[in-house]
Amino acid sequence: MKLLTGALGLLFPVKCPFCQTILEDPEAPLCPECQTRLPWLLGREAERKVDFADGCFSALAYRDRVPEAVRRYKFARVRACGRPFGLLAAQCAQDHLPQRPDALTWAPLSDRRLRERGFDQAELMARAAGAAMGLPVIPTLKKLKHTKAQSDLTDPRKRRANVQGAYALLPGAEVAGRRLLLVDDVVTTGATLGECAKVLLMGGADRIWCATLAQARGTGEEGKN
Ligand SMILES: [Zn+2]
Repeated sequence: MKLLTGALGLLFPVKCPFCQTILEDPEAPLCPECQTRLPWLLGREAERKVDFADGCFSALAYRDRVPEAVRRYKFARVRACGRPFGLLAAQCAQDHLPQRPDALTWAPLSDRRLRERGFDQAELMARAAGAAMGLPVIPTLKKLKHTKAQSDLTDPRKRRANVQGAYALLPGAEVAGRRLLLVDDVVTTGATLGECAKVLLMGGADRIWCATLAQARGTGEEGKN
């Protein structure tokens, strides 16, 4: 098996999602240089207030090499970034959560965006994070309408209005009494995650935490959906 993995590594080398160098350890989420140089968020910096959530924690600031890596994932559709980004979100959640959640879920794309992209970037991250944490990953939400890109709106109130009513609980979603970790790629004002957390709480969830790869400042820098 090791031989096979080695041969596959030569054919399909695994690259660092942040700088594109080939990883010596194909299981690692990033290269040693990025491990040292990326803008990691430490302590309280990692937390952003999100309505209806008990905490939203992000591994990285959305600057330096991070925006390009996120764009590569979402817009150049490099699905392989889902695993390393999910692992980094999982590590961040484990560093900051006061309790172990019961399950992971994600803030879904609209059907239209999902068709365009071919995958849901938050779902891939949630699945990788759940596998790393040994926790189930469950679909819980549906995006009802195709909203304007949040990054086109810099006013936090407009961002909140834009996503209001945009999500609904999936029929049969098992959220009642559960502590859920909601995963997404980037948090900015937290409007989207707050709206999702609200719907999950209304559906009977016990508490919601959020984990994202990166935290942006909300100046329209964080890319579209
Ligand atoms: Zn790197």
